[in-house]
Amino acid sequence: MSAQLIDGKLISAQIKDELKAKTEELFASGKRVPTLAVILVGSDPASQVYVRNKKKACEYIGYKSLSYELDEKTTQEELLELIDKLNKDPEVDGILVQMPVPKHIDENAVIEAISPDKDVDGFHPVNVGKLCTGEKGFVSCTPAGIIQLLKRSNIDITGKECVIVGRSNIVGKPMMMLMLRENATVTVTHSKTKDIAEVCKRADILIVAIGKAKFVTKDFVKDGAVVIDVGINRNAETGKLCGDVDFEEVSQIASYITPVPGGVGPMTIAMLMYNCFEAYEMHC
Ligand code: NAP
Repeated sequence: MSAQLIDGKLISAQIKDELKAKTEELFASGKRVPTLAVILVGSDPASQVYVRNKKKACEYIGYKSLSYELDEKTTQEELLELIDKLNKDPEVDGILVQMPVPKHIDENAVIEAISPDKDVDGFHPVNVGKLCTGEKGFVSCTPAGIIQLLKRSNIDITGKECVIVGRSNIVGKPMMMLMLRENATVTVTHSKTKDIAEVCKRADILIVAIGKAKFVTKDFVKDGAVVIDVGINRNAETGKLCGDVDFEEVSQIASYITPVPGGVGPMTIAMLMYNCFEAYEMHC
């Protein structure tokens, strides 16, 4: 392997430690600490793990976390009532509803019910709009984490050709806006893109978020490119996690690469914690 690994575990730990130090200062001076309310509807095992990890991160940093584990049959009205109560609670800084919610609940109605100044996931249309216009607001955690990975690895973004594979609302689209904000020249590709390997080969920085194991082979990658793999896929035979990038092949020609696991993944929770602190500062 010639590429240098971008260590998401290490960088996310640094961010959490920075937040822990700031929270300890608040605690020492007798101030209230940031508070995150986490809502889980139903008992999806993957969602339970995500929620547990978010609560653990709060505990590590010293935030207060409020946990609401609601029955699968909770109605949309009941969920919106709880969100409304938390919106009005001055001691709650961030509200997170673990997605996906059960099918009888409208995901957009839930996202839009959260007050934009408590929307630490950065999914509310007000925050999405602010990202587009360059105003300060909450940014979706995974793309925000990728910017941190690049910056903290001293990778220059200005003037670089960036190709993003995938155009989802939580990764591809906010990633496009963030890379534009960092002065990259950005191309976004998707399932209808023609000659996608050729388009990707233009990239100095290639960011892949599609959810297709090992889709990006060395034929997609220019020598010396920086490759960020957002994908999380589980190999049906081995049970092991792998990304959207064929790591074995691509790491031979890239200059920097994120592993899966241990690359982008750990950054999402770190940035959620970062957004909670920002929310706290807005409320104090
Ligand atoms: P998503 O909502 O399913 O969107 C997938 C995107 O990939 C769509 O825009 C789709 O294009 C595009 N796509 C699918 N097949 C393609 C192909 N053959 N060629 C080009 N583009 C293709 O996915 P997502 O939520 O962004 O997640 C993507 C991956 O990242 C998943 O593996 C997910 O688990 C992972 N993820 C990781 C984290 C983390 O590390 N913390 C966070 C979020 C997501 P169309 O729009 O044309 O359909």
